[in-house]
Amino acid sequence: MSSVAILLAGGSGTRMRGVVQDKILEPILGLPGLVYSVRAFLESGVAKRFVIVRRDDAQRDAILAALAAHGHGDLDIVWAFGGAERRDSVLSGLEACPVGTALAFIHDSARPLVRPESLRALAEAASRDGAAVLAHKVKDTIKQVPKGAVAGVPVDQRDLDRSTLWAMETPQVFSHRLILDAYRRVVAENAVITDDVAAATHAGHKVTLVENLFPNPKITEPSDLAWVEFLLRR
Ligand code: C5P
Repeated sequence: MSSVAILLAGGSGTRMRGVVQDKILEPILGLPGLVYSVRAFLESGVAKRFVIVRRDDAQRDAILAALAAHGHGDLDIVWAFGGAERRDSVLSGLEACPVGTALAFIHDSARPLVRPESLRALAEAASRDGAAVLAHKVKDTIKQVPKGAVAGVPVDQRDLDRSTLWAMETPQVFSHRLILDAYRRVVAENAVITDDVAAATHAGHKVTLVENLFPNPKITEPSDLAWVEFLLRR
């Protein structure tokens, strides 16, 4: 059974709007961001098939042109449409996976620095345990404040034990059956989640942490592009 890389490309990228055309195709040292993730998957050998969840047909055409321009015109791609929320996009991607898909690697295309060795470590952990996530230990002190709290006024601050905190990255990797069932439940119950681990947790599953010692930032704001270029040059 083969595994599939689900690349999420369809988010609105609100904080980048008007600054760049499409954050996942923005050139990073001359190469479109999404191409970095594709190359990491191809080099790792963990998944040769891709499900790309796109916003619209114009984005699909732009992605195909970017891939072809950089030597990946023959990539094995199934296309899916994104939805209003990330959870809708992921479910769409999971439903588009070919029959018999073993593991689904769910990856934000906006994280170009993922490394082949991390993908192999995730594949091993998810094959063994059914669910694994790339993550790092939190270095900052994180406080919890009341919902809706804003800067500039005094607010209650709740301490969290930093030794118990990990920051989730992507890919998040699961047995296809497990995560498809979990997402169907999330959508049916209208549960609010912001990553795939939360969907698995909602369905009662444990998820294995795979520690990433390398930076794997998500491009959210225009300044992140310069930061990623700096990291790549090192
Ligand atoms: O926009 P944000 O950075 O939070 O998106 C995180 C990831 O989720 C991105 O890869 C984005 O393409 C994806 N996403 C999606 N569908 C949405 C919202 C986000 O595929 N509706």
